[in-house]
Amino acid sequence: MTYRVTVIPGDGIGPEVTAAARKIAEATGVPFEWEVVEAGEPAIRARGTPLPDEVLESVRRNRLALKGPITTPIGSGFRSVNVALRQQLDLYASVRPARAIAGEGTRFPETDLVVVREATEGLYSGVEHWVDREHSAAETVAVVTRKASERIVRFAFELARKLGRKRVTGVHKANIMKTTGGLFQTVFREVASKYPDIASDERLIDNMCMQLAKKPGEYDVIVTTNLFGDILSDLCAGLAGGLGVAPGALYGDTIAAFEPVHGSAPKYAGQDRADPVAEILCVELLLRHLGEKEAADRVFRAVWETIAEKKVVTYDLALPGYTARPVTPSSCSAMAAEIARKVPLVDLDAPLPKAASAFGAGASDPTLEA
Ligand code: NAD
Repeated sequence: MTYRVTVIPGDGIGPEVTAAARKIAEATGVPFEWEVVEAGEPAIRARGTPLPDEVLESVRRNRLALKGPITTPIGSGFRSVNVALRQQLDLYASVRPARAIAGEGTRFPETDLVVVREATEGLYSGVEHWVDREHSAAETVAVVTRKASERIVRFAFELARKLGRKRVTGVHKANIMKTTGGLFQTVFREVASKYPDIASDERLIDNMCMQLAKKPGEYDVIVTTNLFGDILSDLCAGLAGGLGVAPGALYGDTIAAFEPVHGSAPKYAGQDRADPVAEILCVELLLRHLGEKEAADRVFRAVWETIAEKKVVTYDLALPGYTARPVTPSSCSAMAAEIARKVPLVDLDAPLPKAASAFGAGASDPTLEA
């Protein structure tokens, strides 16, 4: 069976890293057909809009998407294409595993957790306005509903079960935001009570950040609202080795889209310098979603071995300071070629550290449909 996947290369470093990721997908031998559609800056140039209808139509038709990052202008200009895609396609669960890979690029090699972020409402509801004509005050409305809170918390507990993880931590700020945070907290407790096999606890967002910065290895699955999840997943990416190695998945009831945690990193655009691993690990998550377990394991192991060998790695993994062995940085395309070369060669039986098996090699399909 050939899998038809919508590819949104995006802008900035997006076209480079999505091209790299497609090479790796093709190296697995799993048959893919790519339907490439443009969003973000290339779509503005060609079509005068950052999110043409054909992008949404293509994703709805294929129900699978591999997405690169898309720039959002700060302060003014068009609304975030990323936020619009999640809202319009009802991709409500943003799942971002933070796995330290081969101990490289991180001070916390024990990091191995998953951030589950509600992706359609909260402070990203898009409901905001100036309070007065002088623009001296502004308001943004945080929308938190029982329906969206229930489905994201349930998703997190189901994910924990599927991945054999032991604990789900609910993160909120219910002491100050007593209605929105309070509703999320209430729903978290209700849903948690239905999963007696999974431990649960809660953290206020500020304390969560401090705890993660000190002992990330103690956390397992974290579930939270949109803005907190956005910030926490970047923090956790940093703990696990940086934005260059942090993949993500967006799940709705019928559609799954895979995009890295990182943005379009405009300062590296077109230079063939960006780390392709985050987007490549999006292909691993796509393969797991499709039930192509062996191919997913091959991708994960090829990435792991390439980073562990540290001969052909991009600048972010070659830095001195993190490791005792700085190396000359390779290009994005060279690192992707090295990973692609390894994909058919990896030993699927070779042991990996325990942390690498909780979402990586050998993990069950992390989606709800499976
Ligand atoms: P960013 O993630 O693009 O980059 C921050 C820094 O992280 C970069 O300067 C770079 O040092 C590093 N980095 C990121 N990706 C890397 C990679 N693959 N390899 C090596 N280093 C990498 O964040 P930003 O600069 O805050 O945002 C840039 C643009 O991206 C903004 O317009 C923002 O809105 C957008 N953005 C989009 C998404 C998305 O498409 N889902 C996510 C986040 C940010």
